[in-house]
Formats: sequence, structure tokens, C-alpha cells
Amino acid sequence: MNVPKTYKNYVNGEWVESRSGRVFENRNPAAKNEVVGIFQQSDAQDVALAAEAAAEAFPKWRLVPAPRRAEILYRAAQALQERKEALARDMTREMGKVLLEARGDVQEGIDMAYYMAGEGRRLYGQTTPAELPDKFAMSVRMPLGVCALITPWNFPVAIPSWKILPALVCGNTVVIKPAEDTPLSCHHFVKILAEAGLPRGVINLVTGFGEEAGEALLAQPAVRMVSFTGSTAVGRRVSEVCAASFKRSHLEMGGKNIILVMEDADLDLAVDGTVWGAFGTTGQRCTAASRVAVHKKVYREFLERLVDRAQALRVGNGLDPAVQVGPLINQDQLGTVQEYVQVGLNEGARLLCGGHPLQEGDYASGFFFEPTVFADVAPQMRIAQEEIFGPVVSVIPCDGLESAIEIGNGVPYGLSSAIYTQDVNKAFVAMRDMYTGIFYVNSSTIGAEIHLPFGGTNRTGNGHREAGVATLDTFSEWKSIYVDFSGKLQRAQIDN
Ligand code: NAD
Repeated sequence: MNVPKTYKNYVNGEWVESRSGRVFENRNPAAKNEVVGIFQQSDAQDVALAAEAAAEAFPKWRLVPAPRRAEILYRAAQALQERKEALARDMTREMGKVLLEARGDVQEGIDMAYYMAGEGRRLYGQTTPAELPDKFAMSVRMPLGVCALITPWNFPVAIPSWKILPALVCGNTVVIKPAEDTPLSCHHFVKILAEAGLPRGVINLVTGFGEEAGEALLAQPAVRMVSFTGSTAVGRRVSEVCAASFKRSHLEMGGKNIILVMEDADLDLAVDGTVWGAFGTTGQRCTAASRVAVHKKVYREFLERLVDRAQALRVGNGLDPAVQVGPLINQDQLGTVQEYVQVGLNEGARLLCGGHPLQEGDYASGFFFEPTVFADVAPQMRIAQEEIFGPVVSVIPCDGLESAIEIGNGVPYGLSSAIYTQDVNKAFVAMRDMYTGIFYVNSSTIGAEIHLPFGGTNRTGNGHREAGVATLDTFSEWKSIYVDFSGKLQRAQIDN
């Protein structure tokens, strides 16, 4: 019998056990009996040591020239590329997403590493004319200090990479606490960065639970900013704790994304996009298409094609190349999805397919759920308002572009939206009027590229963006510098 490996925290350049000696198991959601690894259950003491190490490393690291910092990221990018397949396989084992998507998740980390390595030679500020003679004005970026990074389980390499890499290239030091369901991928990622040559204390990893290790991280006096991706409920908590100690908080939270299908849409394309957006990653993406507003003229036709496709999807273990939809992450999430199906039925939505957990045969060993389609959903129903985070899509009939946009914007979130239409005028109106951080034309709600800003409005975010150059604003502070070479006192706004 295979004895599962024990993985340690990474603190101050050393792999260490939790001070308490407590550990927890990481299990495969497609095969509950398989323990993927044993991880340190860190508490406040472990977290404090990690934060102190990061604080100690900061004064030196911030003075390492950014192009030199970037060289380390470049080497990490190469190592990630070499180990992509192994990382992807481990990700599928701990998170469940199909291997094809796990490879994409690692690829996002590789892309971000090369991109941020490039930023080491840019990190542009501005030079601008001063209003007084013989005076020079410019702005430069400053690092923030110790950044606490708290990540969810649905993108186990990509999301840590979006936080760690820009934070480091900007000259910050970091402590990361990955989700308790997927610590292995983050462990691999941190190990690669450490091996690429990061000095001791610049990156620190503590594994453990939100209420314990996560809370402790928020409480650290040395931490200057918290970058959090996860649920809106926990995001609110992070925001409140940070406000009290004036820490910067960067929050990426839930979504309730929509695809608008107009009467002139290429229906096959719209169905392709809906299937990919709703059931890819088993619906466990913050950008998942969990609502579709479909013009009444094509509503029946769209539903028929969508149900055919949903029923044909192959659910199973993501390591099997024939499988298209993996398991849900854990028992709790399976329970949540089941509850929402019941809520939808109680609200009077029409269940067209799916709606049940899969428990027979091989399915008994994992958290599998049928791809589920609800029709005749009213925009205010809970299944059309609340994030479900599972393979459930709500189809809402609409009268045209205006009502589709109203339905689209009528939720508390604002991450991603999409329109399928052949009419350029409709596309531009929706592009202008959908109040979401990301918008797609004739493409699904998922599929962000790393060199564009990523984030959302309303309860999805708090005004920051990750990825793109926008991420540099999240992980740095501006300093405006005035150099007066006139040799006399010059008073701005007065001596004009
Ligand atoms: P979660 O909020 O339960 O957990 C996220 C992280 O926060 C985990 O590491 C967890 O341990 C930690 N945490 C929990 N309680 C904490 C506390 N009190 N203090 C500090 N840390 C705490 O979310 P999840 O279930 O891991 O992820 C799913 C959610 O993430 C969904 O709502 C999804 O929409 C969202 N998400 C958003 C984005 C985005 O970019 N907007 C991306 C991916 C996922």
C-alpha cells in the first residue's frame, strides 16, 4: 500500500513542520480513498514566524534591482514549463478538473511567470513636465512590504501565480496560504520558485485552514496588504479586518455570470459556448456561465440543442482522457449543489436534465454530479441570483437586447458576461452597458488571458485588478518625486 507523502511549510528558506505537529489530509475528489498528501495544519505561531521571515527579508529584497528579481521569475517559468505535465497530473488528483484543463491552469502560471519576468525591465512610471521652471517631476513604483496571499481551490496554480509573481517583481515579500483542498499544487509552485533562487524569507508557504491559518495571517502586524481570492462572505471578513489596521485589501470574489443569446446568434456557437462555460471545470469557475438569457424567438431551439449536449457529456475521473466533466471539490460542495437544485424546483423552474449526484459504480468513490439544465427561470429566482459553483445552468427567456442586459446586470455580482449575436450594433451596446469587469463577444464567459486586467464589479471585487499591467498597481504604491534644480525656493500654485 502507498504511504502518502508528508509536505512541509516553507518558512525563511527552510521546509519545516508546524510547531504544533498537527497535519491534515488532502484527498482526491474523484477517489475519496486516495490521500494525495499530508499537509501541515498551521496555526497562529507558524503564521507569525512566516510573516516575521518575510518582514526580515523585505529591506534587502526591495533593493535588488527589478531586472535581477525578474531573472529568478524567468528561471521559474522555464522550470514550470519543464514540469508542466507532472504539475497538471497532481492538480487533477487533488482538485478534480480534467487533465486538459489542469494543463491550462499550469500554463497560466507559466505565462504569468514570463510576463512578470518581462515587467522587471519595465515597471514604468511617468515623467511629466513640472509647472515651475528648472524643476523635474516623475513617479516611481514602491513595493508595499509583506503581502499576505490567500487563495481558493479552483485554480491551484494559476491563482497563486497571479498573486505571487507580480508581488515579487514589484519588490514585495510574501506569505501564501493556499486553500486547504489544494495545497499540493501551491507547494510545487513555491518549491520551483525557491529553487529558481529566491533569497530566504522572500517567499513563505503556510498550509492550513481559513479560520485558523487564514485568520492569523490577517492579524499579522507586519502584513501590509492582503490579496484574497475566494467567496464573497470570506472576502467581506478580510475587508473588515484589513480596514481596522489600514492594510490594503485586494479582493476577487464570487460571480453570477451570464451569456446573452440574441435571435440572430449562431446557435451552434452559442450552445458550444454555454456548454463550455457552464460545465467546464464542473461549473467551479468564478467566471462560469451559470445564467443564459435567450431571445424568445430561438429559445426552444436553443434549449433542445443545449440539453442534447449536456446529456452527452462524459462525467468521471479527470485523469481519463475521455472524461469532459470531473467531480466537485468536496462533499460540502456536492451538498450545496443538491440544495440549489431543490431550491430551483421549489421556485418553479423547469428541470430539463441532470439534477442528481452520480453514485453508482465507480462514481461512488467521488463527488460527481450530473450536468444540469434549468429552463423557464425567472431572473429573481435564487438559482439565477446566487453563485452555485457547480454544473448547473439557468436558462432565462428574454424579449430582446434591452431586457437581456437588464437581466444580466440584475445580480449582486459583476465578473464576466458574453453576447452571441451577428449584429455589430447589438454587440457594441452590450459591450458598453454590461457592468462587468470582463466581456466577451461570440465567446463564452470563461477564457481570460493573463495580459489583460482580471476582476469584477459590485460584490465580485473591491476596485483592484489582477493580471495585466493593472496588477502592478495592486502590488505597489506610487511615489511622486519633484527635483528642483533652480537653486531657489519655488512655490507650486503660488509663484506662477
Ligand atoms: P473560500 O472563501 O471558502 O476560501 C478561500 C480562501 O480563504 C481559502 O484559502 C480559505 O482557507 C481562506 N479562508 C477561509 N476563511 C477565512 C478566514 N476567516 N480568514 C482568512 N482566510 C480564510 O472560497 P473557496 O471555496 O476556496 O473558493 C470558491 C470561491 O472563490 C467562489 O466564490 C469563487 O467565485 C471565488 N473565486 C473568485 C475568483 C475571482 O477572481 N473573482 C477566482 C476564483 C474563485
